[in-house]
Formats: sequence, C-alpha cells, structure tokens
Amino acid sequence: MYRIKAIMIGLVMMVSIDSMAQKPKLVVGIVVDQMRYDYLNQYWDNFGEDGFKRLVNDGYNCKNMHYNYVPTYTGPGHAAIYTGTTPSTNGIISNNWFDKESGTLIYCVDDSSQTTIGSTSINGKKSSHLNLTTTFTDELKLTNMESKVISIALKDRGAVLPGGHMPNGSYWFDDATGKWISSSAFVSKLPSWVIKYNESEKAKEYLSGQWTTLLDIEKYTFSEPDISNYEGVLLGEQKAVFPHDLNSLFSTTQNWNLIRNTPFGNTITMELAKEALKAELLGKDNNTDILAVSFSATDYVGHTFGPQAVEHQDTYLRLDQDIASLLTELDNQVGEDNYVVFLTADHGAVRVPNLLLDNNIPAGYFNGIAVLNNTNNYLSALHGGGNWIKAFNNYQFFLNTELLLEKGIDIESVERELGRYAMTIKGVSNAYTSNDLITGKGGKPMSLIQLGYNQKRSGNVAIVLEPGWIYYGPTGTTHGSAYTYDTHVPMLWYGAGIKKGSTTREMYITDIASTVSIMLDISFPNGNIGKPISEVLD
Ligand SMILES: [Zn+2]
Repeated sequence: MYRIKAIMIGLVMMVSIDSMAQKPKLVVGIVVDQMRYDYLNQYWDNFGEDGFKRLVNDGYNCKNMHYNYVPTYTGPGHAAIYTGTTPSTNGIISNNWFDKESGTLIYCVDDSSQTTIGSTSINGKKSSHLNLTTTFTDELKLTNMESKVISIALKDRGAVLPGGHMPNGSYWFDDATGKWISSSAFVSKLPSWVIKYNESEKAKEYLSGQWTTLLDIEKYTFSEPDISNYEGVLLGEQKAVFPHDLNSLFSTTQNWNLIRNTPFGNTITMELAKEALKAELLGKDNNTDILAVSFSATDYVGHTFGPQAVEHQDTYLRLDQDIASLLTELDNQVGEDNYVVFLTADHGAVRVPNLLLDNNIPAGYFNGIAVLNNTNNYLSALHGGGNWIKAFNNYQFFLNTELLLEKGIDIESVERELGRYAMTIKGVSNAYTSNDLITGKGGKPMSLIQLGYNQKRSGNVAIVLEPGWIYYGPTGTTHGSAYTYDTHVPMLWYGAGIKKGSTTREMYITDIASTVSIMLDISFPNGNIGKPISEVLD
C-alpha cells in the first residue's frame, strides 16, 4: 500500500514537473504583415544566420498554413491568430465595414469612448470592444492576473487585437506626432520606458537619413529592376529608385507616415519590443508572459512598391536583421530555454496584376465604384428609382432593407436578382446571397466566405473576384481574397520544447491559438474552432 502510494506520488510529481518544464516563461508572437509563405524561400539566400534562418533551421516549419476565411486583411488576420476563430464568430469582419445600425463605416478597433494616452491626437481612441470573443492573451490573464501581456505594432489594429481586452499595455505609432501611444482602454499613462523611447527620437533619426540598399544592388536578383512600371512612389517622390532620400521627403512633408513605408518602421517596432522586454521584466518569473509584436512596414512597402520590387526585398533583408536582434535580446534577457517564438502573417498578397498580365497570366483591375452605380441602376430598372444599395464594402452589397420593407419588396428575391446581376460583371467569378451563405454547403471559395460572414454584421450579397483580380490602383498590390497568394502564410515555431522539423500537413490560422493555449495550460479562447498543431506540442 505504502509502495503504491509512493509510486503514485512519484507519478504525480513527474507529471507536474513535466508540465512545468514544458511551460515557457514567455511566448513571443510575431506577425509579419503581408508576408506570403514563399517569401521565406525567395529571399533565403540573402538572409543572415540569426533571423529567419534561425527560426527555420532550429525550429519547426509548418509549410502549409492557410487562412480559412475571407477577407484576408490585417484586422481579421490578427483577430483570427489570437482568437482561434474567424470573423463569423469574432465579428472582426474587415478593417473597416459598413455598420448597418449607424449607416456609417466603422473601423475594427475604433472606440470613441476612449482617450489617447501619450499624445493629443485622436489616434489612441481604440480598444478591442468590437472583438466579440476572447484571445489567448485574454485567457492567460483570466487564468493568472500576474501574467503580463504587452502588444506592439505600428498599426493600431496590429497591436490592439493581439493584446485582447485586458493587456498590461498595447502600443502603436501615432502619425500625428511620431510617438508611440496607447488608449485609456489599456493604460492610464505611458510607462517610463515608452516615454524614454519617444524622447530618444529614433523615428526622426531614421527619417533624417537615406534608405539605401543593405547589400550591393546587384545582389537583388530576385527582384525586378529598380525602376519599373509596377511600383508606386513614396509621398513627395518622383521615382521609386534607390537611394530614397528620406531626409528631404520628411523635411518637406513632415509626414510621419513615411516611416511606415520603409523598413525602419519595423526597426523602431523591434527597438520598442526590446525595451518592453527589459522594462516589463517579461519572462523573468514563473508567471508566463506574452509579447505580441506585429511588423507592419512590410505591408505598406508591399502595397506601395509590390512584391517584385528591390524595396520589398530590402525590407525583408532588414527585417531579418531586426528579428535576429530581437532573438539575441531574448537570449540575453529571458534565456534560450525559457521562451517560445511563433512567426506567421496576417495575410499574403498577389503579384501586381499588370505584371501577371504582361506574363500572359489572367488578372485584372476591378472598378468597385462603377459596379455600385451600375448595380443600383439595375435594381432601379426592376423596382423603380431609388437608393437600393446602401454600400458596396469588402466585396459585399448592403441593401437598403428599410426601403425594401417600406415598398413591400421581398428582400430574399432582391438578393437573388442582385446575385444574378453580379455574375454578369467582368472579373466576378461567384456571387452568394446571405441565404446561400447561411444555409449552403460548398467548398472553396464559398466555405471561406462563410467563415468570414457574420450574420449580424455582414452584407446581403457577397461576390468573389477571379484569380489575380484586385480592386486597387495600377501600381503596387493588395490582398483580401480566398486565393492561395492571400491565404498561404509562414508558420514558424521556435524555442523551449519546440523540436526541429517541418511538415506539409494543411493547417489553418485558427490552429495557432489552441496550440499556445495547450502549451500554457490555459483555456482555449471562447470562440476557438482551431485544432492544436500537435507536431509542435509533442
Ligand atoms: Zn495591407
């Protein structure tokens, strides 16, 4: 009896020691905004040993990670990573959406009841209140209030949504002042380490210099020539060529937004993250902390110049150095055996459609404004003149349901008429009514639209563009679709207890939150639909 009891106690101790040993002291979530999976391989040869290569070679590479909903945008992407669910449940249906109640466009992290902390601008009036579900950062805090959650990104939505509803701090870049700020939803004043970083005027320092290529420009063999018709330009610049004279651009425009379109937007993010590590003592005790960092500059650079540009390649080479620097700081501050890093992206991007067209690949440019007018004219021809459509937003038509009810016209039949008409528009490949989306069963792209479709917040008819089509200008690129160039993103795991290896198993972005939850022995986020990535946990 005594022996059995002793063995049982021994087993219990082994189990508890085992689970304690596996629990990291710090989880660092890195989101690279607009990073398509193939960029890892594309720029591999020019990466150093200590950034992306360290994560891939010494960590676990999930090579087949996809978004499982549309629209593939930044707000929904960050929400899905941290909530383990999709817009249909968390309600973050886009960055901006037409709000049926107020009849206006709303922004995914706007909160007019808050005040800005750290500047006199309005750019801090943010919170996570539109996210209807919990994040794994929330669940960590609900389990243990001693655990700290800090989130940082140039973009407010890239910081706010990962931080969840109750972070210890969430910080983003204020274009009005060039300072890192926060919201009264999260802090009552800026901590001294943020104030100190702001006072160092590093952003100004970067904007007082030039953006030259990190390597000899001949080495940018993956990219198109430095001058090409596929690129847009920086505000105030005539041509998109190196060197970019940031000093003259900034001194004439005084536009802090400029730093977002350069790799230095990522560098100041990394620098602030390192300050957070030190000052907030992240990963220093046994209460696991989370540091959520999102590198936004890659998205602005991708939008402006396109993925074929030397500027794009250079931004990734410099990000590689920033990641290496952050990892070294983690080694020094937290210790190699005590932290876990995951790296993924909030969406990918399509190659510039004009470049695709020049290479005989089907692609095109969609004119959403013309479509809205033509569609309204079509409904007017059927039902009499009127403002039948309130908005065309995120590839969804929002019908004027009040007017339809007033005229006694059946909404579902108008949705079907609208869907049929939408199918005649050039560049449209599919159209679904709200009824199709609520009741229908189908594969891609319908299944992705369904998971992005929130019954309360979404529109009446959703359309899908053909592959390679975008609603955007002729230079640079965008994202948002259900096609692989937008859904396929990197997924790297590295650090304490993570083995080396890779898998080609198909997995979904909603699988990250439950993986972290299991790693930390906390509840899954309440709306979670993902499945833990067992390869990483075993
Ligand atoms: Zn974007």
